[in-house]
Amino acid sequence: MKRVALLGATGSIGRQALEIIDGDAGLELAAAASGSQAIDGLAPLTQVGGDLTELLEQAEPDVVLNAVVGFAGLPATIWTLEHGVDLALANKESLVAAGEIALAAQERGGGRILPVDSEHSAAFQCLEGRAPETVDSLVLTASGGPFRGRTRADLDGVTPTEALAHPTWNMGPKITVDSATLMNKGLELIEAHFLFGLDYERIEIVVHPSSIVHAVVRFRDGAALAHLGYPDMRVPISYALTHPERAANPVPPLDLAAGLILEFSAPDEESFPCLALARAAGEAGRTAPCVLNAANEVAVAAFLDGRLPFLAIAEVVERTLNEIEAPLARDLEELVAVDSEARRVAETHTRELVH
Ligand code: NAD
Ligand code: MG
Repeated sequence: MKRVALLGATGSIGRQALEIIDGDAGLELAAAASGSQAIDGLAPLTQVGGDLTELLEQAEPDVVLNAVVGFAGLPATIWTLEHGVDLALANKESLVAAGEIALAAQERGGGRILPVDSEHSAAFQCLEGRAPETVDSLVLTASGGPFRGRTRADLDGVTPTEALAHPTWNMGPKITVDSATLMNKGLELIEAHFLFGLDYERIEIVVHPSSIVHAVVRFRDGAALAHLGYPDMRVPISYALTHPERAANPVPPLDLAAGLILEFSAPDEESFPCLALARAAGEAGRTAPCVLNAANEVAVAAFLDGRLPFLAIAEVVERTLNEIEAPLARDLEELVAVDSEARRVAETHTRELVH
């Protein structure tokens, strides 16, 4: 029996994880946490809000599924890696904001990171058992979100309701807005850099509207391995929780003869500037990804509140990145200070750009 601690149990990933855990006799839900919704009785140990590492200390899990949204998931990521416990990571923001600190914690603790983000789970599976020197480059696919094909002018005045209507994935509100701005793919670029140790110039983003191919790894001999599947998060959740066993789950097999359309194109970085902002922040390194993430969280929350126009999300992120020099953070405390400062600066720019 694998003891699972599920953080973010009431969210989109959390609910699908509960389904996978319920259907797998080898998985036992030892602990569950949510941000604010009541979850009494869901697991032997439960916690609502507060410091999630207290729950993890008591739960003694074999694997932690971190499905909290945003920077709030960081302490649990660090705790898990530091304790040598397997980390099934959906909370990409923690790795984006604290990549070096998280990898140092992993080095000390020896825990494994099993990606839950679908593209990273796909890349992980294509890369498993391959010698690093044989890998040429990695391609992550993006659906393009609900606004694919639109010009900047077309994006002026789009509403939260329009942004929340994602064509292929059904997800929580923050990541759905990130998918509409393409910041989600920017965060995933940085996530992939830390997960797979690849330089940024070796990670490419392509738009693939049907979300069937999740990632492609190109090798030095001209071969490329792709990972395909219906857009269903139960697949990567199940893979991360049961690795290396690849347990059976209720997801139907891929029906190629039904007429799948596999179309690819380059992203439109003019209509969707967040992708280039994320790439620049990743390349700048130090705490630039932390600043990018913090400013994005502030701007997306303001957009969802109806205060900030859609196009101003990228503007808030860009202004915040320009204003903060992004110093080096040697530990969690210094990183949290940079995150707070970035939030303060981003709030100021948000107030300047409100409707
Ligand atoms: P969601 O908004 O549906 O759920 C978020 C969960 O986190 C909820 O259970 C909420 O109670 C909890 N939470 C929020 N703040 C918290 C806090 N301060 N402390 C403790 N718990 C807190 O979000 P989601 O779509 O399930 O996404 C979760 C994470 O997984 C995000 O980082 C997202 O980027 C990533 N992810 C999601 C999907 C998807 O399909 N939904 C795909 C890939 C990656
Ligand atoms: Mg993803």
